[in-house]
Amino acid sequence: MKPKHLPAAAGAPDPYFPNSGDHRYRVHRYELALDYRPGPNRLAGSARLSAVADAALAEFALDLAEFRIGRVLVDGRAARYTHRGGKLRIRPARELAPGAAFTVEVHYTGNPRPVRSPWGGLGWEELTEGALVASQPVGAPSWFPCNDRPADKATYQLAVTTPSPFTVVASGRLLTRTTRASSTTWVYEQSAPTPTYLVTVSIGHYRPVPLAVRPAVPQTGYVPERLTAAFARDFARQPEMAAYFGEVFGPYPFGEYAVVVADEELDVPVEAQGLATFGTNHLGGGWERERLIAHELAHQWFGNSVTIADWRHIWLNEGFAKYAEWLWSEHAGGPGAAVHAAAAHRLLAGLPQDLRLGDPTRKLMFDDRLYQRGGLVVHALRRALGEDAFFAMLRDWASANRHGVVTTADLRAHAARYTAAPLGPLFEAWLERPELPALPD
Ligand SMILES: [Zn+2]
Repeated sequence: MKPKHLPAAAGAPDPYFPNSGDHRYRVHRYELALDYRPGPNRLAGSARLSAVADAALAEFALDLAEFRIGRVLVDGRAARYTHRGGKLRIRPARELAPGAAFTVEVHYTGNPRPVRSPWGGLGWEELTEGALVASQPVGAPSWFPCNDRPADKATYQLAVTTPSPFTVVASGRLLTRTTRASSTTWVYEQSAPTPTYLVTVSIGHYRPVPLAVRPAVPQTGYVPERLTAAFARDFARQPEMAAYFGEVFGPYPFGEYAVVVADEELDVPVEAQGLATFGTNHLGGGWERERLIAHELAHQWFGNSVTIADWRHIWLNEGFAKYAEWLWSEHAGGPGAAVHAAAAHRLLAGLPQDLRLGDPTRKLMFDDRLYQRGGLVVHALRRALGEDAFFAMLRDWASANRHGVVTTADLRAHAARYTAAPLGPLFEAWLERPELPALPD
């Protein structure tokens, strides 16, 4: 077992996003009250953060995109602040002592829009009818003030008020839904530690479609009415998938799993805490779509519960989610993982070999080669450890680090416990060097 917060990992800026987050304090709870008007795309928000200082703080920073700031309070007292370049720098009336618990309250209004990035807009996205949020990796400041680093996980309460015809789906469990005049307030509680990039809200005209009659964990689709039958058909095996992943990865880490099918085409589905967002183009069945259902579900263990300390380690999310696709195929009577691994290896052999998986650079962190090669590392581990030791290693990785924060070095140390043979050469070849190693038999 290891501590849930790694001081070493928490104590430095993210090398890929040095402007994101402030590593000198930790937030353990966010309470967000948002009023959103879809027509004018207008957001009025208040955020209350409960945090602990890790150093003496005369000032500290939150990440927040362009909004008009109303008030900023620290421990209930007005604080001075500046707001530019996506950073809200706050100077409390009194310096915070190391170890001090404190609260920050920020009131803000504006027209939320995605944060620009090399991968397109991130975060809050206005739809024809409603909005969705897909923040990975640094889009969270598009809609709430936060300490935007994956290692700083917190619990959340989200209260969203919007015109009554809309449905609001958010990370966590729905506590209350209250209608006053023509607006409805939806209050969600996410009690599991959650990184900022995995907090989400979807606003639209959705119908709930329950997926399993007596599931261990409730699984519900939120789907445009005309697509409910297609959804029920295409996601019919998801409960079976969740049961299988529960066997091989250990118990599902959250209280529920929601799937939103936004009424738009999306490039790729995106994971959030206890939730995934798909586009209308992801309905229609077939392996290429089924594997995405498996991939997003697997992220609930790998990425969402077991979270990377910083973005250099992203292969730990994507490699394990990729391998989960192959495991599901094998389990469901399709091609075995070895067949998928061989295909991935053939694909990579024909592509440039300039990717170092263990530190891929910001430019290549979402490159498809990272996903494929990440899956291959897990497959290489399976071959090196043998079936029993591999599946024990996999389950223990998810359970020992449940709701925690990890690095590649943690995985290497963890895997080494499951074999007498040295794994150093395997990890060096697959993670540290760019050339593609041979496919393990
Ligand atoms: Zn993924």
